[in-house]
Amino acid sequence: MTTFSDLALREELLQSLTELGYEEPTPIQAETIPPLVRGADLLGQAATGTGKTAAFALPLLQRIKLGGPRPRALVLVPTRELAAQVSEAIHKYGRHLGARVLPIYGGAPIVRQIKSLERGVDIVVATPGRAIDHLTRRTLNLQDVEVVVLDEADEMLDMGFAEDIETILDETPATRQTVLFSATMPPRIKHMVKQHLRDPITISVGLGRAEPGVTPKIRQIAYVVNRAQKSAVLSRILDIEQPGQALVFCRTRADVDELTETLNGRGYRAEALHGGLSQEQRTKVLGRLRSETADLLIATDVAARGLDIETLTHVVNFDVPSAPESYVHRIGRVGRAGREGTAITLAQPREHRMLKTIERLTKQPIAIETVPTVADLKARRLELTRAALHESLLEDNLEPFRVVFDTLSDEFDPLNVALAAIKLAHEATSVGGDEDAELDAPQMAVERDRQDTTARRPRRNGAGETARVFIGLGRVAHVRPQDLVGAITGETTLQGREIGAIEIADRFSLVEVAVDRVDEVIQGLRKTKLQGRKATVRREKFDRK
Ligand code: AMP
Repeated sequence: MTTFSDLALREELLQSLTELGYEEPTPIQAETIPPLVRGADLLGQAATGTGKTAAFALPLLQRIKLGGPRPRALVLVPTRELAAQVSEAIHKYGRHLGARVLPIYGGAPIVRQIKSLERGVDIVVATPGRAIDHLTRRTLNLQDVEVVVLDEADEMLDMGFAEDIETILDETPATRQTVLFSATMPPRIKHMVKQHLRDPITISVGLGRAEPGVTPKIRQIAYVVNRAQKSAVLSRILDIEQPGQALVFCRTRADVDELTETLNGRGYRAEALHGGLSQEQRTKVLGRLRSETADLLIATDVAARGLDIETLTHVVNFDVPSAPESYVHRIGRVGRAGREGTAITLAQPREHRMLKTIERLTKQPIAIETVPTVADLKARRLELTRAALHESLLEDNLEPFRVVFDTLSDEFDPLNVALAAIKLAHEATSVGGDEDAELDAPQMAVERDRQDTTARRPRRNGAGETARVFIGLGRVAHVRPQDLVGAITGETTLQGREIGAIEIADRFSLVEVAVDRVDEVIQGLRKTKLQGRKATVRREKFDRK
């Protein structure tokens, strides 16, 4: 396995990568960085999601001379969104080198761009149209450029930028290093490569050998969602899918920590696993999974390597993996030994193409599904109730309840008696807050979930400042107010009367206590189990006061 330090990158760059939580180079980075650092021209066939931005940005930052009056590197991209995004990425990677990066695109005030250029920038990330604009005004001088990157070159050609690109390249020194990335290789791209690249090294991700084929037992689905919605969408998918245990892959350490925190906050029992953990912590996390005190493992690829968990039913790619091989590797964690498994991928709209590449390579379809709605969730809950009743009917120990039916059916229609019983059973097992509202935006559903807590007890101690303690288990885990009171009085010096309002929601509970007792209650509850399960316990962040 290649590490970032194997790639002979400067200390300042390695430092940024550590801070960003990148644990190892993606396949395209491992292949691309060494030749680019040496100064070779390169033609890369790679789509968004493969890590190609860092693949060209790191060598560029390593090589160019920083701090001069004129730009030393030029990155051309098709859209303003991409210009902003790539510029931000380069800025992050080059932070400790003090690299000055400027995005230049139409729609943003040109005067501000001119001022920045006058002050001096090291790297310009531009759309071709706006770059031409500045060249015409002579506010952009490309004579010191050492590296040119043409990112998403096929898209730039599709958008009619061919001529602009020629003009721009003519303004740069012939001695420059040229890098071209394209998701596809139509003849026009090949022509461009022949014209502007010198003995380029060619690299492609996931286009070489076909994978032997994923076992057909794995159900593969994908959802296309924006980044901001991902964790809310994931929650809803988990509620529908009801996995036994699931492994969720994230790209970086930072993503792992963030998602674990979010999911725990929503009452799931999630554990983080990444390269930043000590061996001891790692063993603990895996122990909690084995003993089933946790049911979601959030991990990076590196940390999950060699992991074999028998009970996994679901693998979730919180981001599209950086190469098809890595996809195959990840989802191979389920469906072992002939068991069934499900692989779920959350892709951003721009990563659609990567899904296609993966499908082509694995020769298996990935069904793109729409995010489940609240109505789906309701239907699913009813289905669970139906299944429970079905099981109960088969068990045939219903005789003790006949007397209830007999008395009621004198007065009511037997069908209505049955319906009332179903209603009670449904509410007892899956009391959800969603029953009376149709919500389409997943984030809103989560908000509602918060509001839908039911006050179980009035507050007893009117005076004094109080705060609330969050416990990541609720109705679904059969937690009742008396369980919480018992746990708190058993594990702390608090008396029952010192415990204020208790609210129990589907997946979490809130307990009110005096502010100066909060820490003691948290410590106490962390030591113990509720209904046989360990829960996340912390101070509630959304105190109403
Ligand atoms: P890109 O294909 O350049 O758009 O990158 C896709 C995503 O992967 C971005 O969010 C990057 O921050 C992230 N990324 C790039 N390289 C790595 C890496 N080596 N480890 C983890 N995440 C990465």
